Amino acid sequence: MPTVSLDTVYRTLWMLDRLGLIAAIGPRRGSVRFDAKIERHHHYVCVRCGSMRDFESPALDALRIPASAKGFGTIIAAQVEVRGVCDRCAKEKPERQAPTTPEPPRERRRRTT
Ligand SMILES: [Zn+2]
Ligand SMILES: [Zn+2]
Repeated sequence: MPTVSLDTVYRTLWMLDRLGLIAAIGPRRGSVRFDAKIERHHHYVCVRCGSMRDFESPALDALRIPASAKGFGTIIAAQVEVRGVCDRCAKEKPERQAPTTPEPPRERRRRTT
């Protein structure tokens, strides 16, 4: 929506976050995502296009937070982020062979769509 400033969009998103209607993902500084799904769930993230898909898993919900993480401070929430190359990206360059070693996670790019 070109008539709405980005500032207004972010102010609104943070307000919805405070109201618990959406959930901000990631640190408050730098890149942040907003999630319309506030029930407990986990994410599949494509390392090429940065797309994020939700999935649910009672097994992952039951994961115990290790003491090494609790040692940093209180725990508010925990979720699992699964990384990979989504089917759409995998189809885009069929000539490129899958790397034998996992690539380091790239910096998240802004989606150009
Ligand atoms: Zn992708
Ligand atoms: Zn989500």
